[in-house]
Amino acid sequence: RRREAAARVSGPGRTADGHAVKLLVNLGALPELDAAAAADSEGVGLFRTEFLYLDREQAPTAEEQTGAYRTVFDAFAGRRVVVRTLDAGADKPLPFVTAADEQNPALGVRGLRTARRDPELLEAQLAAIAAAAQDTEADVWVMAPMVSVPGEAAEFTARVRAHGLRTAGAMVEVPAAALRAKDLARQCDFLSIGTNDLAQYAFAADRTLGTLAEFLDPWQPALLELVRTAAQAGAACDRPVGVCGEAAADPMLALVLVGLGVSSLSAAPSCLGDVRATLAAHSLDDCRRLAGLALAAPDATAARAAVRDGSVREA
Ligand code: PEP
Ligand code: MG
Repeated sequence: RRREAAARVSGPGRTADGHAVKLLVNLGALPELDAAAAADSEGVGLFRTEFLYLDREQAPTAEEQTGAYRTVFDAFAGRRVVVRTLDAGADKPLPFVTAADEQNPALGVRGLRTARRDPELLEAQLAAIAAAAQDTEADVWVMAPMVSVPGEAAEFTARVRAHGLRTAGAMVEVPAAALRAKDLARQCDFLSIGTNDLAQYAFAADRTLGTLAEFLDPWQPALLELVRTAAQAGAACDRPVGVCGEAAADPMLALVLVGLGVSSLSAAPSCLGDVRATLAAHSLDDCRRLAGLALAAPDATAARAAVRDGSVREA
């Protein structure tokens, strides 16, 4: 019965006892914009900007970028938009940004690391985001992909602020960043956990290899432990910590993530309804208890089963 009642819920994400969890959408291209904006969400938790740079020989112009960002900000007037700066390399190669001769591109100059070699690319993108954010009604946040050490977060935050943008964050996608999330959090305004890459690097398993899917399962207790470390670090420093990888799209796993201390979940628009309904049927204490069951499990299959059984018992 609790579940039937929950199926009717809409609006901001909440547990059964009213603990707020922001439910946000992932956005990866402008054709997705209408569906994303129409979804019942508090904004965009991950705006992947790579689409602007794909199939090109050079970076998009300032006008093109500003126009695209502005279109998104206008569609989300009154809501939050978390823009991720260019994440080139590895599974997202870009000929004019990333080197073709790296032997291990996933461990190479990718994500924020490209800005070290080519600072103008990031500067131009931040300038375009700042221009688009002028006079917009959207609450514009900016975050960097593939941050590994606190110094990178500090430098990124300084650059973001130099453009007049107020809210800078770091993605937690590298185990070192999760383990030292407190140091990272002190250097920026929020953290966002990318569970796709975090799983890849925690398990040394290429995320594009279907044959390694078992290692990339977001229910892996080792991955959840990294999420807990990052979420607790954020709480200790009073910084919001979201999850924007695929893990956030699984309603039962969403309960676990909330129980681990995550304050927002960002997923494909079509997944949010189920996540919202499942959250509304469980209290924060339920989520914490289920998170404990998942963490105590020896592997992903056992974690999934323990949480399924645990949540059935309390429904
Ligand atoms: C992630 O790595 O989990 C993430 C959200 O970023 P992407 O999938 O774009 O690498
Ligand atoms: Mg990633």
